[in-house]
Amino acid sequence: MTDKLIVAPHIYKVIERLQEAGFETYVVGGAIRDLMLGRPPKDYDISTEATPEQVRQVFGKRNARIIGKRFKLVHLRYSGDLIEISTFRRTPDETGQIPGKQRKSPIPENMIFRDNEYGTAEEDAWRRDFTVNALFYDPVHDDLIDFTGFGIGDMHEGIVRAIGDPLLRFEEDPVRILRALKLVGQYDFIPDPETKKAIKSSIYLIKHAANSRLSLELEKILKGTYGHNILAAFHDYGFLGNFLPYLEENWNTPARSYALELLAERNNRVQRGIYRDSISLAMAALALPFIEAEIDNGNRGDLWTPTKDSKYKIRRILLEAFTPHNMIKRLTSSAQRILSIQPRLRYTEARSKTVTSLQGYTHSRELMMLQNELVWKDENLSRRWPKFVSQRKHKKKRSGKKHRKHT
Ligand code: ATP
Ligand code: MG
Repeated sequence: MTDKLIVAPHIYKVIERLQEAGFETYVVGGAIRDLMLGRPPKDYDISTEATPEQVRQVFGKRNARIIGKRFKLVHLRYSGDLIEISTFRRTPDETGQIPGKQRKSPIPENMIFRDNEYGTAEEDAWRRDFTVNALFYDPVHDDLIDFTGFGIGDMHEGIVRAIGDPLLRFEEDPVRILRALKLVGQYDFIPDPETKKAIKSSIYLIKHAANSRLSLELEKILKGTYGHNILAAFHDYGFLGNFLPYLEENWNTPARSYALELLAERNNRVQRGIYRDSISLAMAALALPFIEAEIDNGNRGDLWTPTKDSKYKIRRILLEAFTPHNMIKRLTSSAQRILSIQPRLRYTEARSKTVTSLQGYTHSRELMMLQNELVWKDENLSRRWPKFVSQRKHKKKRSGKKHRKHT
């Protein structure tokens, strides 16, 4: 565990500017966990005393946009990055809940629907889900604040502990069950006994969570580099059937093992900076073994013969594998292209311009290299298929902005 937490220079600057304007401001969330464990944070969440309007006054209207209806936060463009800044909030009183009878299906009476009252830093810490997620770090004064009193100890011991009564906290927001298991998979943490018991007995509540929130979580899991461990944790705790039923139903198949190995290898390469964090590549890696198994009864690495029929099967399996999530259409189509090109890369003897100029080639080559690493071990493949090819046609579509959309 690292003692001194070093935040990215532009984040330091943003916090310093808000503090100089008179507002208490901290780094919160996942970045603190990563910094404490010596991992590079993938992004930073900033929490401040300033209201969204005040944040805008500090950074100017052009760079700071207020987003969100239910609760407002600021998206700040700063030094080429997009930073999320939220205002301290406190747990809402009873008016934050709406009665079950207003809903189509009965909902747990403690479920929270509004979370929009400003508060102090301490109040903000107590409304957070787990002790390791309630640490506040002020990089300017190098001050790590642990309002719950358990956060630092739990970080050291690797414990996921709900703040307050875990049963109540999961009832208030069932997505917290998923978030607990993400911490288990991502950091190899274990839940404390009470939280563990509550996870198991509350899993059924997840049906009350908005599908859009769960789909967003799936996208984050696939984009990140611990998806293979997180999905395994979901399975171990009996949650996967509620999240990705297709994967759970096929858990004891060789295709499923191969799928997680491919995803693990993709994650390894993203961590090492060799691959970009493409969600569609992660989707393709996860679905590929099931497609291999279904078409031509293939084992690991046995690709299918491309036909019109195989094209439809690829799409059907992709859709099935990620049901019930509404993956963005663009991602599914991109994963489909990546998969469709696979047999051509493997079975075309000489380098072919027709193949290298296909949209999706680069990612498909990456998927091929994953299979090659795990199964084929063919040294010629990487030489036959170049990493970079001029794709003038597709380049036009890409924006030059640093913040590209998900690919
Ligand atoms: P990640 O690395 O995936 O971003 P994170 O913990 O930062 O992990 P975010 O979704 O970015 O997750 O949320 C930031 C912080 O907001 C969390 O650390 C937690 O303190 C708080 N938070 C997020 N979702 C909830 C929730 N459903 N209930 C309570 N607190 C939450
Ligand atoms: Mg975060």
